[in-house]
Amino acid sequence: MEAVKIESVSVVFGNFLALENVSISVGSGTLLAIVGPNGAGKSTLLKVMSGIIKPAAGKVFLFGDSPELYRKKNPIGYLPQQQNLNMDLPLIVSDVVYMNLAVRKDISKKEKRLMVAEALNNVGMFDLRNRIFSYLSGGERQRVMVASAMVNMPKILFLDEPNTGVDIVNQDDFYDFISHLAGKHGITIIMVTHDVGVVSSYVDEIACINKKLYMHDKVGNVDINEAMNTVYGKTDRIVTHLPNNKSCFSCPFKDFGARTSDDIKS
Ligand code: ADP
Ligand code: MG
Repeated sequence: MEAVKIESVSVVFGNFLALENVSISVGSGTLLAIVGPNGAGKSTLLKVMSGIIKPAAGKVFLFGDSPELYRKKNPIGYLPQQQNLNMDLPLIVSDVVYMNLAVRKDISKKEKRLMVAEALNNVGMFDLRNRIFSYLSGGERQRVMVASAMVNMPKILFLDEPNTGVDIVNQDDFYDFISHLAGKHGITIIMVTHDVGVVSSYVDEIACINKKLYMHDKVGNVDINEAMNTVYGKTDRIVTHLPNNKSCFSCPFKDFGARTSDDIKS
């Protein structure tokens, strides 16, 4: 059975059509990347899939159930694009992860502490568990947020641009971990990203969105640069992080050795 299935979904904000007639199925254990330009409806699509917003038309299923019903019985992991954690609070790392477990009445405090430790260990942050969260680097914070999304051991994980703030040095580790969750642990992961390098190296399937679904296929069947060009229109939005430090001149990430899809072709 598909982990996530949406059928003919449209989303309207006021009189603005954000998603139009999108249908997509994601098999269990798949790591799917969603790509598309800013304002394309990617975050909206994740919110629809996770049941945070209801579509104006169409149907949504998580393992065959409506999101509402599924969420009553099962945890889901969701890493929002904007973190709305109050950075003035002197929370330590393990508190941040614990917050996502705090409301659960079916497990003891001792079990919760063990689950927090395990989640932090999984993202390589156990040793920093007593540090003040707001003092961490962007990449470290992002790992803690992933631990927080993972602490309930969900079978479905939604990640909205998780690479934002991940220092380039740690990117490979981070994506190794993410693809390991899908490949070895059978967790279905749906991730919004702009990064062609990440899509080609770590992802099983790619879906291109710009209001409509332009295509959805296995990464191996797709010329990713061509697909990105089709859906983005403008190539300078597309970035990739490759090990060589050649800089690009048309994209905002040039200082980090990012290159546009045109650079890759040449
Ligand atoms: P993306 O994540 O692809 O950048 P979003 O899904 O965040 O795009 O947004 C798609 C479009 O819908 C944008 O034009 C955005 O301004 C609009 N939008 C998103 N959420 C709301 C909302 N709650 N109310 C009104 N408009 C919204
Ligand atoms: Mg977004």
